[in-house]
Amino acid sequence: MDFRLTEQQRELQDAARVFARKELPDLAREMEEKDFSVPAEMVRRYGEMGFLGVNLPEQYGGLGLGHLEALLVLEQFAMISNAVAFPVFEALVGPVRTIERFGSEELKTRIIPEVVSGEATVAVSMSEPDAGTALTDLATRARADGDHFVLHGSKRWTSGAGHARYYVVYCRLSDAPGAKGVGALLVDKKMPGVGFGKREQLMGFRGIETRDITFEGVRVPNNNLIVGAGGFGRLMSAFGLERCGNATQSLGLAAGALEQATAYVQERTAFGKPIVDFQAVQLRLADMAMRVEAARLLIYRAAVNAAHEESGLPGVYESSIAKCFANEIVRSVTADGMQVMGGYGYHKEYGMEQRVRDGFAWGIAGGTTDVQKTNIAAAMVGRRFDQRR
Ligand SMILES: Cc1cc2nc3c(=O)[nH]c(=O)nc-3n(C[C@H](O)[C@H](O)[C@H](O)COP(=O)(O)OP(=O)(O)OC[C@H]3O[C@@H](n4cnc5c(N)ncnc54)[C@H](O)[C@@H]3O)c2cc1C
Repeated sequence: MDFRLTEQQRELQDAARVFARKELPDLAREMEEKDFSVPAEMVRRYGEMGFLGVNLPEQYGGLGLGHLEALLVLEQFAMISNAVAFPVFEALVGPVRTIERFGSEELKTRIIPEVVSGEATVAVSMSEPDAGTALTDLATRARADGDHFVLHGSKRWTSGAGHARYYVVYCRLSDAPGAKGVGALLVDKKMPGVGFGKREQLMGFRGIETRDITFEGVRVPNNNLIVGAGGFGRLMSAFGLERCGNATQSLGLAAGALEQATAYVQERTAFGKPIVDFQAVQLRLADMAMRVEAARLLIYRAAVNAAHEESGLPGVYESSIAKCFANEIVRSVTADGMQVMGGYGYHKEYGMEQRVRDGFAWGIAGGTTDVQKTNIAAAMVGRRFDQRR
């Protein structure tokens, strides 16, 4: 076991760090203030730099590297803000993987190159007003009609809604009850019958549009079928990488908070000396570093061990542990960062309070921490716990 990154990994990480720190801090501040998504021309620049194709296959324009490399890049962006990192998250660990893993060759050839170049993004629409954790209660339904499906229903909470061009929509594709009837279609926002709700106001996540989506008789070509009825388990099996991405968005915030706090405590003086000279501050800093490093290692382990999984994606146990831990520590590390900066930590101009607000979201999005713990326990004892009985 060697915990050092390879030279190639370090070079990629450096390239992402240099780009993110040079190009993105001002944009991130403006996005936070005015609440807009990463502009299209900047997403294209991400694409030109190769950041949107790190772990996507070369045949579709990607770099064909591993998931660890993808997460190294994502972390550097997330250290600036979750919002500027969001297109990277969507491309490298998000719903595009579902297309890459289960879609037809025609679908992959059509969609993935657009994502890698930054021409289009893909969001995921699973949750509904009455289906969150209990996702298999979802009611959005698609009926086969010749060479199309006709889609009806409404979705809640889609991150990137309105901004993204494509949506992986989980829906009922047969009358079979529960998970058995669920599959997924790719919906283009330009299809007639697709509607978007108002921009939701959340505690954080400014710069990442969240909206409801409605589908009223949307005609989706059969070619856009990703997974048919009965494929819910397969869709979930591809979720390990998304969990690692969610964990890395958390890690980036926490690592950014640690870096900012470390600099601050050496500059800020009290009682005639830098506040880092006070032992209470030293302990807080060390505690922050311990949590950040542990989260990073759990994420790296899940990402590297994906190579030993039949799916090539991170396994449920390791990715759930990584997500859950990173989701919990981002809340405490950013809160400690805020505390150690005193009044400046609580002031909007210094960015730490934004990390606290953004950081809370990740332990809800992509499956709550409590539910992750249920998955972890299930993997530990080798059986699933039926939540309905
Ligand atoms: C910032 C953000 C971004 C999101 N982005 C997306 C997106 O892009 N696409 C998308 O489809 N959805 C998205 N979501 C929705 C997200 O997936 C759901 O909010 C999440 O799955 C929880 O569902 P819920 O909000 O309905 O809560 P509920 O399911 O109502 O849960 C409420 C509480 O009950 C607990 N609970 C419920 N069932 C159990 C159980 N069996 N055991 C233990 N505890 C339980 C939960 O842990 C939680 O604490 C996003 C949410 C947020 C906050």
